Amino acid sequence: MFFRKKQAQAQRVVIPSAAPAGATAAGPGESRIFEFGSDMLRRARGHKTSVLSAKFYSDALMEWSMKDPQFKVQMFRFVDAFPMLRTPEAILDHLNDYLSQPGVTVPTAIGAALKAGGIMKGAAAATISKQIEGMAAKFIAGRDAASALPGLRKLWDDGIAFSVDLLGEACLSDHEADAYRDKYLDLISNLPAEVAGWPSQPRLETDHLGPIPRTNVSVKISSLSARCDPIDTEGSINDLMRRMEPILETARDNGVFVNFDMEHHALKDFTIELFMRCCQRINFQAGMAMQAYLRSGVEDAKRVCDWAVRSGRIVTVRLVKGAYWDAETIKAEQAGWPCPVWGTKWQTDACFERMAGVFVDACPRSTSVGGVKLALGSHNVRSIAATIAALEQRGLPHSAVELQMLHGMADQLKHAAAELGLRMREYVPVGEMIPGMAYFVRRLLENTSNESWLKAGFLDNADAGALLRAPGSAPSPGALKVDATDVKSGVDLLTLAPERHKLSPAFDGLGNGRPFFNEPLRDFSDQRQNKAFAAAIAGATVPRIANDRTPDQARDMVAKAHAAFPAWRDLEPKTRADVLIRAADLMRQQRDGLAGVMIREAGKTWREADADVCEAIDFCDYYARLALPLFSRTRLGRFIGELDEQWYQPRGVAAVISPWNFPLAICCGMTVAALVTGNTIVVKPAEQTPGIASIMCDILQSAMEQSGVDKKLARDVLHFCPAPGETTGAALVRDPRVALIAFTGSKAVGLDIIQAAGVTPAEQQHVKKVVCEMGGKNALVIDTSADLDEAVLAVRHSAFGFQGQKCSACSRLIVVDPEGDAGPAIRHFTHRLVEATRALVIGDPILPGTDIGPVIDAESKAKIERYIDIAKSQSRLELALPVPPGLEDRTGRSYVGPHIFAGVRPDHTIAREEIFGPVVAVLAARTFDEALDIANDCPYKLTGGVFSRKPSHLEKAKREFRVGNLYLNRGITGALVARQPFGGFAMSGVGSKAGGMDYLLQFVEPRASCENTLRRGFAPEL
Ligand SMILES: Cc1cc2nc3c(=O)[nH]c(=O)nc-3n(C[C@H](O)[C@H](O)[C@H](O)COP(=O)(O)OP(=O)(O)OC[C@H]3O[C@@H](n4cnc5c(N)ncnc54)[C@H](O)[C@@H]3O)c2cc1C
Repeated sequence: MFFRKKQAQAQRVVIPSAAPAGATAAGPGESRIFEFGSDMLRRARGHKTSVLSAKFYSDALMEWSMKDPQFKVQMFRFVDAFPMLRTPEAILDHLNDYLSQPGVTVPTAIGAALKAGGIMKGAAAATISKQIEGMAAKFIAGRDAASALPGLRKLWDDGIAFSVDLLGEACLSDHEADAYRDKYLDLISNLPAEVAGWPSQPRLETDHLGPIPRTNVSVKISSLSARCDPIDTEGSINDLMRRMEPILETARDNGVFVNFDMEHHALKDFTIELFMRCCQRINFQAGMAMQAYLRSGVEDAKRVCDWAVRSGRIVTVRLVKGAYWDAETIKAEQAGWPCPVWGTKWQTDACFERMAGVFVDACPRSTSVGGVKLALGSHNVRSIAATIAALEQRGLPHSAVELQMLHGMADQLKHAAAELGLRMREYVPVGEMIPGMAYFVRRLLENTSNESWLKAGFLDNADAGALLRAPGSAPSPGALKVDATDVKSGVDLLTLAPERHKLSPAFDGLGNGRPFFNEPLRDFSDQRQNKAFAAAIAGATVPRIANDRTPDQARDMVAKAHAAFPAWRDLEPKTRADVLIRAADLMRQQRDGLAGVMIREAGKTWREADADVCEAIDFCDYYARLALPLFSRTRLGRFIGELDEQWYQPRGVAAVISPWNFPLAICCGMTVAALVTGNTIVVKPAEQTPGIASIMCDILQSAMEQSGVDKKLARDVLHFCPAPGETTGAALVRDPRVALIAFTGSKAVGLDIIQAAGVTPAEQQHVKKVVCEMGGKNALVIDTSADLDEAVLAVRHSAFGFQGQKCSACSRLIVVDPEGDAGPAIRHFTHRLVEATRALVIGDPILPGTDIGPVIDAESKAKIERYIDIAKSQSRLELALPVPPGLEDRTGRSYVGPHIFAGVRPDHTIAREEIFGPVVAVLAARTFDEALDIANDCPYKLTGGVFSRKPSHLEKAKREFRVGNLYLNRGITGALVARQPFGGFAMSGVGSKAGGMDYLLQFVEPRASCENTLRRGFAPEL
């Protein structure tokens, strides 16, 4: 029996002690490792057959790529865009674009092809296409399982088994997930019958415990659900199970082995959990890949072994190093999270050997106990030999381990393994070019990487001693030199981040004394963080605040603030900066609770609320560091006898009028900018969200007191004024003692404030300064070469995140289609967007699985619905996602589901007016230039975006897409403090960018002095 249903007798797992990082010393097994490894290597090198993997390197494109890293980057980027290019012109045009990037030397042969004109164009494009398709065909065995079948049979006859993988990453909709499930069901239902008649191969069909299935398939779980998000483990598992169950039951009934591939780190714990639950529920022949490049590798291995032994289940683990090293490293740094993968290659190799040891120790010796059978997904002979030696040491036969290698790679090794009598399986991906591109590019990178063992072994022909050395005992072949400033030095980039990015100046004694770095968002795939967040928001309560302050009360606050101004102005700037640092700390200590208040008060979903708190913390930390230098005098020039200096002073009383959509971040950003620059403040928050604003003011009061500011002064410096905008707000901005107004909100109110501020009654002694952020009607352009998987997700998030209630939200989607409004590109994109949007869950924002929460209030809902009615009369409704019945009653809130309208023309109302709701208008443009014209034809200039894989189009967008914040190949919301200073121009606002270097300059006035230091012909400098 291959696996057991019942609880079996527990087997003790002996786990080798994990060697400290950097210390895989040569042990007694080393001689056996060398003996086995050099035998395998010698046999592999002896193979003179027409091995694909050797030919790969001799392809002209690859040869050039290996020689010139700049060429390689641009070439691989072109390859990635290639499947989207439909005409010879488009192919040559894009190739030309990529290869004319700075620093790229174009090989003569390609240069000639690029210059081709007339009919030669077609021939040149065909040659290039053939070469790329040929390269892809080395790694992808066929368009589908049927076309791959003859190849599988040939492998079998050559003594190599298979695992079929149906390519299909980035599942965006239920529709796509269902299609992927159906393909697997088809494969699992039909392949066993196809292979049943093949001749018997005992070495491939048995392991040390008995028979194993011929049909082996590999599955990527993220392809089976559009809702595969560990923020909501239970919801995601339920959704996945709907498609997993029929696959696994059919596999069980047909005796098919199913392996769960391992994807990005964010899905690791989730995949393990899902795997265990599937194994408990269904008696299928189960396997899962596990990654050694993860720092948690050994711990993960022990967890799975313990579970298998405890539950009496026999499963297979395919131990791999991991295919997403670059992506994990990049993503972790961008998010400010500890890097989940090892920093150096040898650490990964050492971890692989330690994990292999854990698994071998948990290898069942009979079918009556649970445990883990090991498969090695590696082309590294050292890694393989070390595991073989570990097996032998424990008295296990070679059949207790299976070797697995990728289709199109290391064919020499596969034959050598078969010769050595090892069970060898090839991982065989099948599928079309477009879904296969992510896989193909990963293989290209892996094969050309300087860290690749395969390259060192078969292209660079390193000697056996170097190739088989214990990891960490000496520099591994091709290893990079350690240099802490090098991003590949192996140091976790997070530890260097503030100094590496220098987003602000740093001052001894201010905060941690280091430059600013963004507060990282919660990693909701980490169950510890996830649970703590859930608990904190469950306990959060919104303070009851009445918006009842009268104009007279506001005037009284202004009077007090005005009186307190000189004392606050003349305080040490460092004390004011300390207040912000302290406030950031206080917010950090209660950040999940603050998010909980916003979830309840503003209807934010988990991620939106968390991001709001982080941004508020960032404003405090960043502005504290920017403010200090403003108040020390800067000498201008070095003239002898003349001392020229400049510095800044605060303006006076600031009125801060903040919106409800970022009820903490924006309110906090404007308030602390005024505070740290020495102004006194009256804060009037949006009527919808006074609760979180009151907490913020309390935090700032505490921060002032904790920083040693006199209690009375603190109270007079900052006033909280919850009140109606039309009356008290209007009176506040018109008060002649107010020197500065910081406003974020609608265009109508913003323009009214600007007008009011221009009136200067006789008693007013200054001209008011207005910092004003207004609306947006932001466009995202989808070019013909766009990566649609990424673009659809980015549009969905930018348009419907927080129900579209962001001034940065995408509300115009301009799709380039040479065939116009009814063309295939626009139809395809709209269809995918519609289907992807259907996968969103409208619900109570307190639940982690909710994507779409309520709109802010009934008035807002009515306004959005008026626009929807107009849009219905002018264009074509493609989607109106229904609000679940009873949800409004249950939550007591107002909801509007996402709406998508196609066939919108630039002059239609929904293409021109800000809606501030989940409504997106799809417009068509025949060319990229026309798309930019449509995008620019708008009085708002806030955010904009372009998805394109054509470098010259990206460059053109930078030049000509006139918006305050332009985003390329990503979503258009979620600007980060200091990294993406935020704000627009034209009707989107006046003033410089929030979270930018010069934001604080708006809150101060410059002063300068010039002193003649020459006395009777003598100056101190001479
Ligand atoms: C049958 C099979 C199935 C696979 N399934 C999966 C899967 O489900 N999930 C998955 O993620 N991968 C999977 N892979 C891909 C696999 O992770 C890579 O092919 C593998 O990492 C290459 O390792 P190697 O031992 O062959 O080569 P080596 O050259 O020894 O190792 C290369 C690997 O080392 C790691 N590495 C490279 N540079 C560094 C560095 N600077 N610091 C730390 N580590 C570094 C990376 O993981 C890189 O891939 C599979 C591979 C095979 C053969």
